[in-house]
Amino acid sequence: MTYQKLAEMDSKYIANTYGRFEAALDTGRGATCFDVDEKKYIDFTSGIGVNSLGFCDEGWVTAVKNQLDKLQHASNLFLTAPMAELAHMLCVRTGMSKVFFANSGAEANEGAIKAARKYSFDKYGPGRNKIVTLINSFHGRTVTTLSATGQDSFHQFFFPFTEGFVFAPADDLKATLDMLSDDVCAVMLETVQGEGGVMKLDGEYVKGVYDACREKDILLVIDEVQTGMGRTGTLISCEQFKVSPDIVTCAKGLGGGLPIGAVLLSEKLADTFHPGQHGSTFGGNPVVCAGACEILRRLDDRFLASVREKGEYIKDKLEKIPGVKSVSGLGMMIGVELEKANNKAVAARCVKNGLLVLTAKEKIRFLPPLNISHRLIDEGLKIFEQSIAECEGV
Ligand SMILES: *Cc1c(COP(=O)(O)O)cnc(C)c1O
Repeated sequence: MTYQKLAEMDSKYIANTYGRFEAALDTGRGATCFDVDEKKYIDFTSGIGVNSLGFCDEGWVTAVKNQLDKLQHASNLFLTAPMAELAHMLCVRTGMSKVFFANSGAEANEGAIKAARKYSFDKYGPGRNKIVTLINSFHGRTVTTLSATGQDSFHQFFFPFTEGFVFAPADDLKATLDMLSDDVCAVMLETVQGEGGVMKLDGEYVKGVYDACREKDILLVIDEVQTGMGRTGTLISCEQFKVSPDIVTCAKGLGGGLPIGAVLLSEKLADTFHPGQHGSTFGGNPVVCAGACEILRRLDDRFLASVREKGEYIKDKLEKIPGVKSVSGLGMMIGVELEKANNKAVAARCVKNGLLVLTAKEKIRFLPPLNISHRLIDEGLKIFEQSIAECEGV
């Protein structure tokens, strides 16, 4: 089917919730793919940070296919090996104690919010249930995670929203600490605000919030849905901020391309949930977990060092490209501020020229597959440079 035909079906049958690029992708290997009209692209998006090892990585495909031939789903009424193995690996690698499996970032954050409120209820009774999140954050699209998202534009139309969220200014430690009143049970933050424009928080700020939370038995929840699973150069980004959160949520890159979310609970919350208090039909699906196990196995220390190296490599090259004003982010989560306010036009031009890129707020955003080669990075950046030049008058 041609792009034209698919675009017609899209506008006729699919709910109109997305602005899309003009391409219908068909096949891919690693950091390159082809659309239905056989045009080739270099991928700097990983499907928004999801395809950690690129398109159709051989080891990942094998792990998924092997499990698919054995058993596709069992429900959480029964144990399966991939789920248990993945939980074990996640706990060993992060130092957390228990895992709840969900299917998406928003669902993982819902689980984190429930766990935080339950912990506080068990220990302090009702009333201590407020959660502080940050202005410009993004935590998901469900009614509750929209409430948690610190951007006014998300708090429209869908009233009534879930109560109990207040928003602190990121990197303003004093203002944030002033909000830690007696009715607060948790602070939830992203170490690098992805959708908010690839804004890395200040290390001192994160440490300051962490120390204050410790002191007041307020839980620190880190939303690592985008930053986690190697994206920033460590398995979870909070390692680089030298804090030990009480709850970590993961999703995007964990499944390597299949839907999964995970709520990691520290020792303190290991007994917070009891049977019947939380659940998810598809959570811990064995096919998805088998793929995620392969992703985790591949993200060893050497691999993570290569992510940090490539992140620096891309940043250095970007800073020399005419039209680039500044570069932000951490590891291979990269935001590019352009001299001109034309990021949407530049992104569309990149796609037209054979490079898949993302935007975040006013920036161009790169989330390349973590195993992309230096050669493809170079080729992609050449297309990026050319695309900026072509948009000079736009
Ligand atoms: C993408 C994202 C989410 C939402 O994840 P979904 O899988 O789309 O529900 C939540 N938090 C952060 C930080 C994200 O980047």
